[in-house]
Amino acid sequence: MGVEFTDKVTILVCGGDGGAGCMSFRREAHVPKGGPDGGDGGRGGDIILQADVQTSSLIDFRFKHHFRAQRGTHGQGKRMHGADGQDMVLKVPVGTVVHLYDPETHEEGELVADLTHDGERVIVAKGGHGGRGNIHFVTSTRRAPSFAELGEPAIEQWIVMEMKLMADAALVGVPSAGKSSLISRLSAAKPKIADYPFTTLVPNLGVARTDEGYDYVLADVPGLIEGAHEGRGLGHEFLRHIERTALIVHVVDMTGGYEGRDPVEDYRIINRELELYADELADRPRIVVANKTDMPGTEDVVKRLAAAVREDSIAAAGGDEFADSPIDPKLYLTSAVTGKGVKQLNEAIGSKVRVLRAEARAEAEAFEKPYEAIWEHRREARDRRFQVVRLDEHTFRVEGPQVERWVIQTDWDNEEAVAFLQHRLKRAGVDDALAKAGARDGDEVQIVECAFDYQSGEAREDIFQELED
Ligand code: GDP
Ligand code: MG
Repeated sequence: MGVEFTDKVTILVCGGDGGAGCMSFRREAHVPKGGPDGGDGGRGGDIILQADVQTSSLIDFRFKHHFRAQRGTHGQGKRMHGADGQDMVLKVPVGTVVHLYDPETHEEGELVADLTHDGERVIVAKGGHGGRGNIHFVTSTRRAPSFAELGEPAIEQWIVMEMKLMADAALVGVPSAGKSSLISRLSAAKPKIADYPFTTLVPNLGVARTDEGYDYVLADVPGLIEGAHEGRGLGHEFLRHIERTALIVHVVDMTGGYEGRDPVEDYRIINRELELYADELADRPRIVVANKTDMPGTEDVVKRLAAAVREDSIAAAGGDEFADSPIDPKLYLTSAVTGKGVKQLNEAIGSKVRVLRAEARAEAEAFEKPYEAIWEHRREARDRRFQVVRLDEHTFRVEGPQVERWVIQTDWDNEEAVAFLQHRLKRAGVDDALAKAGARDGDEVQIVECAFDYQSGEAREDIFQELED
């Protein structure tokens, strides 16, 4: 059965590059060269993923894979700063999990974010900073800095996004209990189906609406049989989805099927499966449905099941008959064939889902997961790391995202700019690391496409003194 709840796409996201800083001097009549007045380049836009309830699939990303935010414009004379590039916001469904992706090995990397509530955001590709104009490089000894920074290149990376659908209520039960039949009954009064395009992609999902007009998503979870928790058959995949479901609707076939099983025994088997899979599923809010009650001779077993449910409900409330229990003490009697009891079941599921979702939302808001901040922080820390590789006796290579960006930001035709870069590298500890790796004066140091001679700290002390900013 080709049932698929997940939707997975791989995309390349690039922030906008930063604009270049400007190297310029004030021009005034009769003044040969005024003070520096080059403005900064604008910041490049970020690529932001935003969870959005109106977006129900990742389908758009199947056709477009590359996204680049707007770049910052260059700074200009008269201290004019370049304009910042616009951020690009990509809307994704609530329930989208984002990981880094390595296009060469096809492997998924670090978790970037698990966007579980509407409006939650994460920056997946930060735009570059604008380069600083030459007004920033004035020091007591350098009145007329004739260099500026180029813009910082943006972050560019592949990510993989996976939508893990969060059905509001999942129907579980033995095969042929009537789960699919109930779903089609419950979602018979179809809300605007176009609002939920995944229901056409995934045949065993339904959207139901209560009398008050509250919509909720139902999932039919087939194949939940004994041994499902061990990963046999389809069970395992589906149990993973129940993990994210607010409410479990346990459907029991009151006829006991062709084999004449005992429905109460069926009910217990499924409960045990849920418990074995995950402890917390045992206290997941749950309602129990006695289906096929149109069939003759089901009255006695309905009574026995009702008693079992009531007993379980009290037990789940710690033995207190009047306490709140995750298990509804009421047994819902239905017939998917005649439609009997379906309306009451719909109202019961809808009102429970509504309460549970509101609680979950309040919880999420109280503990606002700042993915935006966490991920950025981790990325920046990682970016600052670098390593020195010795290529041969007199050649070294420095590798690291931040260090490499600084080099790219440097105008290599400008001596002052290069001296400023060397100063930055020293402050970041690159010189020390080179010395530790055995570099000697005159050895070649490569970073990205550029190469320069290594000079030990002492040999350059006076220059750095002057450049201290
Ligand atoms: P699922 O495997 O749990 O999804 O079960 P289905 O919805 O596919 O139903 C299995 C069989 O039971 C089908 O032949 C249905 O027509 C039948 N069925 C489902 N609900 C009822 C019911 O309430 N009463 C009767 N008599 N048959 C039902
Ligand atoms: Mg079915």
